[in-house]
Amino acid sequence: MTNTAQQLDTTPLVDTGYYAAVTEAIRAEAARLLTDGTVAAVIGYQAGKRKGTAMPAIITDPARANDLIFSPACVNNLALYLTKAKKDIRKTGKVAIVAKGCDMRALAGLMGESQLKREDVHIIAVACAGVKGSGAATGEPLTTANIAKKCRECTVREPKGADSVAGSLPSLPELSPVEAEELARLEAMTPRERWSFWKEHFSRCVRCLACRSICPFCYCEQCMCDRNRPQAVETSPRPAGNMAWHIVRAMHLSGRCAGCAECERACPMDIPLNLLNRKMAKELKELYGHEAGLEPKEKGPLAEYREDDDQSFIK
Ligand code: SF4
Ligand code: SF4
Ligand code: SF4
Repeated sequence: MTNTAQQLDTTPLVDTGYYAAVTEAIRAEAARLLTDGTVAAVIGYQAGKRKGTAMPAIITDPARANDLIFSPACVNNLALYLTKAKKDIRKTGKVAIVAKGCDMRALAGLMGESQLKREDVHIIAVACAGVKGSGAATGEPLTTANIAKKCRECTVREPKGADSVAGSLPSLPELSPVEAEELARLEAMTPRERWSFWKEHFSRCVRCLACRSICPFCYCEQCMCDRNRPQAVETSPRPAGNMAWHIVRAMHLSGRCAGCAECERACPMDIPLNLLNRKMAKELKELYGHEAGLEPKEKGPLAEYREDDDQSFIK
């Protein structure tokens, strides 16, 4: 099958029975954990207000376990709810969280950064067939045409290290990569072309900071980009300040970003933030053999010094 033919294929990728089975397993596990007091709360997904949508849910009553669902609309990375920014949830006691493989990379990263202790969280992992990408119609099933770009080349569908796994992975066709092609196009540009590419995208940024609010790794209580005495980054959406904000953001997330693509999904201006994240991740893998979120590590390569680090860039 050609890439184009595959991308236009609108037949369901998986049987609806798969989502029903995952939902059933999550509900049973949530009810058990809340009833026997293992956890004080379960962070998962519930149906959204519009048919076919989903939204985050935090339940503390086992009678509400049947509100939980898993569907191709369960896009949010719920690891966000275990960060400092959401400290009220953590105060309730040990919590369970429903996590797709990409979300588990964020949990591992947060543990590596001492933001979360493994013993304080019960992970209900999902054997994940994928979720829908931005712009997919709400009533549609998951297809090769509407699956999120990140899911086309996912390597963490069967998460490891969870306390329980909901569902079993159905057989899936080989999907043509889209993210890898985007990255290859970016890398084929000259430095000047690449600068223009990012300058054009960043010029559209309205500094709403949705990308920061949704990121599990943007948990600083005072972001240096908000400081005005001294001001490190101009806060109004003008070209120089926008460029500075995006450089700070990209560097701060290098070696930490879990690749969940939530920042890109949240961006109202369609700025390809995850393309920049992936480029940075690729550089760190090539330079330091580092991949974020595969295991809890105390420090990424940009936060530690080793004598054998490459020094050739210092002139
Ligand atoms: S990237 Fe992988 S784990 Fe994450 S939603 Fe897509 S298929 Fe699931
Ligand atoms: S930078 Fe974006 S892709 Fe990376 S962890 Fe944060 S929200 Fe997810
Ligand atoms: S979400 Fe988009 S528009 Fe808003 S600050 Fe981030 S990059 Fe800019």
